[in-house]
Formats: sequence, structure tokens, C-alpha cells
Amino acid sequence: MEKERCGKNFKKVMAANRGEIAIRIFRACCDLGRSTVAIYSKEDEYNVFRTKADESYMIGENKSPLGAYLDIGMIIDIAKKHKVDAIHPGYGFLSENADFARACEESGIAFIGPPSHVLEQMGDKLSAKEIAKRCGVPTVPGSTVPIRDAQEAVELAVSYGFPVILKASAGGGGRGMRRCADEQEVRDTFPLVQSEALKAFGCGDIFIEKFLEEPKHIEVQILADQYGNIVHLFERDCSLQRRYQKVVEFTPAFAISQDIREKICEDAVKIAKEVGYVNAGTVEFLVDRKGGYYFIEMNPRIQVEHTVTEMVTDIDIVRAQVLIAEGKTLAAPEIGIEKQEDVKRHGYAIQCRVTTEDPQNNFAPDTGKVTAYRTGGGFGVRLDGGNTYAGAEISPYYDSLLVKVTTHDNTFEGACNKSLRALSETRVRGVKTNIGFIENILMHPMFRTGKCHTKFIDETPELFS
Ligand code: ADP
Repeated sequence: MEKERCGKNFKKVMAANRGEIAIRIFRACCDLGRSTVAIYSKEDEYNVFRTKADESYMIGENKSPLGAYLDIGMIIDIAKKHKVDAIHPGYGFLSENADFARACEESGIAFIGPPSHVLEQMGDKLSAKEIAKRCGVPTVPGSTVPIRDAQEAVELAVSYGFPVILKASAGGGGRGMRRCADEQEVRDTFPLVQSEALKAFGCGDIFIEKFLEEPKHIEVQILADQYGNIVHLFERDCSLQRRYQKVVEFTPAFAISQDIREKICEDAVKIAKEVGYVNAGTVEFLVDRKGGYYFIEMNPRIQVEHTVTEMVTDIDIVRAQVLIAEGKTLAAPEIGIEKQEDVKRHGYAIQCRVTTEDPQNNFAPDTGKVTAYRTGGGFGVRLDGGNTYAGAEISPYYDSLLVKVTTHDNTFEGACNKSLRALSETRVRGVKTNIGFIENILMHPMFRTGKCHTKFIDETPELFS
């Protein structure tokens, strides 16, 4: 890999996001000596994330709380006015929006992520599956073009065999997906998924897949520079999900054979190469009990669970994102990856997503003032928090992630014990949290085997008591 291309350092980087990921971005930039700019909605005026940036500007006063962070024109205007060189979109909001990446490109602002044409291809699950197929990577059996109507969905479902899953091609975050056990369910569900998809993602394209029973969700972290150098940072096991949403993630995915893990990582790199991927991204797979694995989608952005990969590889992925966008090669000393073999992994890491949700009330988000806040800590414990202090107001407008507790240890058992200890040290008063629920997961003997599949949480009622 070449070393000499070094790009020009950004002076100012904006995070077009909020909460913990905005803070994560500001920290990476600060470590690099780049100055930082926050944008915040009216509802976030007193949120701590904006105080972690060198400058901060309110956006979208006349918009809805979510609309403020989706206002491309306004964000670009503020970036231009304050001489921002680069925008990091974080996750959610505009992170996978090709129009936003293009607007940045056209304004001479670097978008810290892949180019807009890659976002276009990967933002759509059907076109991403096509790319995987082109590389000879297995995909879940399913339709290859959007389905026209419920009748066609039923015919396809019968040909794949039940159960099946209806998916919105533009879907994300566990939304826009429904499992169907029989013909009637497909007929009833099709219009629901379609209207949901239109409303949530602005695109009503639906496809169908065979629903895999009890798979594991395994994903591979990719890093790619602007010169075609691509490596993987190994895999993560994200099978601990509640209703298709990740709760606890860990690495390595030690319950899967080394041979299959290596193949999955190699295939992830193949897919990234095929699309000319640049920056950090994640290639997601489902793995069945027999070791068959299938590509499901690629997330062209930083992911919530990137922390576990950082802990075991010692690579700061968000910092690497900034450096890559500046034009540095992977081999540049600040990143230090000359070849795949330079990426080493040691020990085990687990991330727990602590949310302000009430497990006793069907995980409804809880809101209000945090009256007491004490954290866990100590050797091998990392906290990535959002609005985390006594006195903070938890608003109903945004997602309920409060703090990510990530631990690292030489053994999985050690990391589990450390996570439990860190969570038991944590005190949050004034709002309900899911801490007790996560503790039940960490203590469960099945979790300790590393073998949990994606339905484990939903099928294990004792976790909810
Ligand atoms: P999103 O983009 O919303 O995250 P994904 O396509 O990544 O959606 O899928 C999220 C989760 O949904 C997977 O981790 C898995 O638990 C479940 N899932 C998706 N497709 C299938 C399938 N074909 N069979 C079984 N479970 C699936």
C-alpha cells in the first residue's frame, strides 16, 4: 500500500448528528487536533453534546425535532457560513442519504463516508443483494425485483416456502420488516409493510425473503481508503436482538467456526471492492445452524456497535474515518494498516446498550429529569454516553440510547463479568432504564455459550422479569 498520499488536514469538522455519536465524533476530531462544530435542534438546546464542540449552532427552529437534523439545505448553509471543511453524519438521520452526500460534494465539503453513488447502491437492500450475488457471495433466497402486489407476494412466498419475511428495500433500524407464517398473513401484511415503508422511508418497494429460523447475525467491519485499499476489522456477533433491534453485541463471534468466520470476512471485503467502497462500513450476514451464511445488507456508515471492534483491534474507527476523508491511505502512520495482517485482534469485547426504556411497560421510552447518575468504570470499561448527568432532561423526541457500556477482557467470561459489574455500579434515578434486563441477558447460561440466535431474547420470557 502507498504511504506517500497524505491529503490535507481538515480545519473544522461538523457532526450532523446529536447525542452520543456526536460526542464520539468530537472526541476523535479533538484527538486529531481538528476543531469541531455542533448543530442542535431547539429541543436539544440544553443537551450536553453541543457543549463538547468548539462551536455550536441551532438549526430548524421551525422544524419538527427530527426534521431539524434532516434539513439538508440548512445544514449545508451553516457549514458554508462557518467554513466547515467536512461533515460527519454519524448514524441514523442523514448518514445514508445520497442526496446529502451529493450536496456536500457539490458544496466542496467533504462527506465523511462513502461517495454518493455508493450510498445509492447500498442504501437499497435489493440492489445491495444484486452486488453480493455478482461477487458470488450467498444471499438469502428471495425476490430480486420489487413485488407489484399482494398476489405476487403470495405466489413468491409459496415458491420459497413458509415462513417468509416481507422487507422494505429502503428499510433500516429493524423497521419495515414482517415475518409471515402463511398465505393469509402475506396477503394481510403486504399493504401494511408497503404503507409503512412509504411513510418511514419515502419508498414503497417491497421484497420477500425466506425467513431463516434461528440464525445468528454476524457482521464485518470494513475500512477502505480512497485509493482502493480495503481491509476488514473482523466480525461482530449481533444476534442479541429484541424485535430485530440489537441490544448486546460482542466480538469475536467465537461460537462460529474459525473457517466460516474467515470466509465471511473475505466475502465482506469482496463486496466492498466490487462497489468501490470508501471509508468505514459494515457488511451484514445471517448464519444458520449448519454454518450456511447469507449476505443481507451493507450499512454504509459508522454503526452503534463499532466500539467492540475498537476495543479488540486498538483501531479508532471514527478517527480513521476522518483521516480517510482527508485523503490519507490506510498505511498512513495515523492509521497504520499496511496490509490485512496488520489488523490484529486480542481478547473479547461486549457492548451493552443502556436505554431509557421501561422493560415492565413493554419497553416504552421513559422521559423526564435524571435525578441521580453514577457510572461504572475501572480497567477495561468504556462508556460512550449522550445526555448523562444528574439534572439532564430525557426528552421524548429522539431515540432512547443513554449510554453504551463496552468492556474488554482476555476471556469472554471475564468480559461478561466486567459488564455485569459495571452495570451494577451504575445508578440512574428519575427515569427508568433497561439495565436489569441487560443484566438478565449477561447472566443467562445460554448467553455465556456465545450461541444465542436472533430469536433468543424474544423467546426467553425469564429475561423480562
Ligand atoms: P435493518 O436494516 O432494519 O437493520 P436487516 O436487514 O439488517 O434490517 O435485518 C435486521 C434483523 O432482522 C436481522 O439481524 C435478523 O434478526 C432479522 N432478519 C432479516 N432478514 C431475515 C431473514 N431472511 N430471516 C430471518 N431473520 C431475518
